[in-house]
Amino acid sequence: MIEIKKIQNVDLDYLTYLLSTDEHNEEIFKVADEVRRKYVGTEVHLRAIIEFSNYCSQHCLYCGLRAENRNLNRYRMTEEEILERARLIAKLGIKTIVLQSGEDPYYTTERISYLITEIKKLDVAITLSIGERDFEEYKIWKELGADRYLMRHETASPELYAKLHPGDSFENRKAHLFELKRLGYETGAGCMVGLPGQTPYDMALDLAFLKELDADMIGIGPFIPNPDTPLANQGGGTLKDTLKMVALARIVVPTANIPATTALGSIDPFGRQMGLKCGANVIMPNLTPNPYRPNYSLYPGKICLFEKDTACVECTKAMIKGVGLVVGEGYGYRRKINIEEYKITAVGD
Ligand code: SAH
Repeated sequence: MIEIKKIQNVDLDYLTYLLSTDEHNEEIFKVADEVRRKYVGTEVHLRAIIEFSNYCSQHCLYCGLRAENRNLNRYRMTEEEILERARLIAKLGIKTIVLQSGEDPYYTTERISYLITEIKKLDVAITLSIGERDFEEYKIWKELGADRYLMRHETASPELYAKLHPGDSFENRKAHLFELKRLGYETGAGCMVGLPGQTPYDMALDLAFLKELDADMIGIGPFIPNPDTPLANQGGGTLKDTLKMVALARIVVPTANIPATTALGSIDPFGRQMGLKCGANVIMPNLTPNPYRPNYSLYPGKICLFEKDTACVECTKAMIKGVGLVVGEGYGYRRKINIEEYKITAVGD
């Protein structure tokens, strides 16, 4: 039997052990599914994502958008194109819009402010996912009505973080995430699984960081080597390791909103369905319009590059129902409950 208390207390030795063996996987998945049901229920929230620019000034070794990549058709959506998409999403009844891009300074404080102001008129929650910006900007955008900010911590190993992010440090990333939290954003962190050199202990550190931050959202996906990056020839993350991290994250932060990520769906055709059975409670249908969509290529094999670019909405709804869960109809804010009332200490509690 696994020791749920030790997981919840982020006992690093124990987490490292669980991440080093597949012996307890089924039990971990089962507990995570129970924790998901008890703490966040059967609703799965939809978050429509608009990937509005693939320009990036950063150099992350794993990412296809990195500034050095010349094999990418770069695009920027105009404000009107972004707003037109946002209106379509609102009309489709989806209550969260995620604005994601590379780190692209073309979208100034004022441009992002304008987008927030206009999109908030549509009665939706807004998640920003545009990388590291000035603390002052975070504050301005929060005051204008931005609800959430998604910025994975990528890895909580300071050494690995420094290797993968030239010119940046985990300490700095952490400072940004804590500032977002302090400003009142629902704050999303998360990591990749199977990064070159990443150990089970490093992944235990990821879980401990998610708890320390009390992450409101947790995005976890496999690392998928991109041929247009310096990590082209490295191995990638596996389905079972990624599912295990999703499941452990659910047990460690029981009320967090946790997506079954696109990357998980990209390494296995049923990856997202499995994610939903191992603790995830969010899906992010891709609403980036064509012709831009295929150019937001973080990694190869990214799914959902359909011709009909709203198809992801129906597809993800069917997926949720297909695994016996319910499509959420609200904004999907993090559920606030008294954790003590719900303590799960053993399988079947
Ligand atoms: N600029 C934004 C968005 C980054 S792209 C930000 O900094 O938050 C969104 C996520 O894609 C990243 O956080 C990273 O975890 C993931 N990603 C990038 N390259 C990847 C790859 N090769 N394999 C898997 N995930 C990748």
